[in-house]
Amino acid sequence: MEVEEKQDVEELGQSLEFAKKFFQIHSPQLVGDQIGELLVLKTLELVQSEAVDESHYYFTAVEIFEQINGEGNSEKARRWMKSHDENLAALFVQTSSLNVELANKGLSTLSIQRVEHKGGKANQWRVRTGKERVTSSSRNEAADIRYVVTALHDPMPWAKPFMNAILSPRILITVGVTLLLLVIIPIYTLLGIIDWSSKPVATSVVILGIFAGLMFHRLHELMNKGVTAFPVLWSRKLGRNKLFLSTSSGIEDNPLGMKAVTIEAKCSICGEDLIIDKSREFHGRYIGKCRIAPSEHVFSFDHITKRGKLLR
Ligand SMILES: [Zn+2]
Repeated sequence: MEVEEKQDVEELGQSLEFAKKFFQIHSPQLVGDQIGELLVLKTLELVQSEAVDESHYYFTAVEIFEQINGEGNSEKARRWMKSHDENLAALFVQTSSLNVELANKGLSTLSIQRVEHKGGKANQWRVRTGKERVTSSSRNEAADIRYVVTALHDPMPWAKPFMNAILSPRILITVGVTLLLLVIIPIYTLLGIIDWSSKPVATSVVILGIFAGLMFHRLHELMNKGVTAFPVLWSRKLGRNKLFLSTSSGIEDNPLGMKAVTIEAKCSICGEDLIIDKSREFHGRYIGKCRIAPSEHVFSFDHITKRGKLLR
């Protein structure tokens, strides 16, 4: 059974960033290469914009033709695209210099996909990461699963600063102390030690304290487990598997960062969706459990390798 693998937008974004630099060095001469560059740049823009998913990464010949030649003529565009198709395909074969350089950098290779529509609808092109070859030589390997980052963010305005933040020791201490104060003051208020002499003020302080407590808990969990749930009210759309993950920021003095992602994965036993959740059985670890067999089809969740092994 051949299943179209979902696009990991994070991996795609990294490869496209590299491809953008590649084209700055190897300026495209052939029209086919110019089309490739355009598709790379346009897709990168979409990946980096908010609340856009992979269904938007498709372009028709007219759209491509218009961008490069400044005019839109569907018949001309179709013929033009056809005459450069071979050239475009050559840019994205596994052995092309772009893909060899991507592979050398440890990034996913890129491939081009042409979607032919029946019934007169125009063909479309898209750039995606090369599909991974799944080897099922051993039973254990067959049970391994892959977690795919399908979206980076759709935050509410106030959540934006946290989407991709660096957690330097100074920021962590400041945030930690502030949150603790915001928790302690309401407790003192409730105990009557602090008197605000105004009911609305006292109530607001207590409500703020509850939110601060919840945030402190999230931050604490992120530090301890490298993953925590994305607060429900921070997201525009409800959805499952919205998480904060710790990352390596790449900066020497401030190695820790955090980012918000939405993740999807399929159960390798029955093919159903996995839900990433905390498990009491595994001592509060975040695990991937099958939507329809949550106590039997259970996988580990490694947010760095994006792999999961069948647990027990
Ligand atoms: Zn299952």
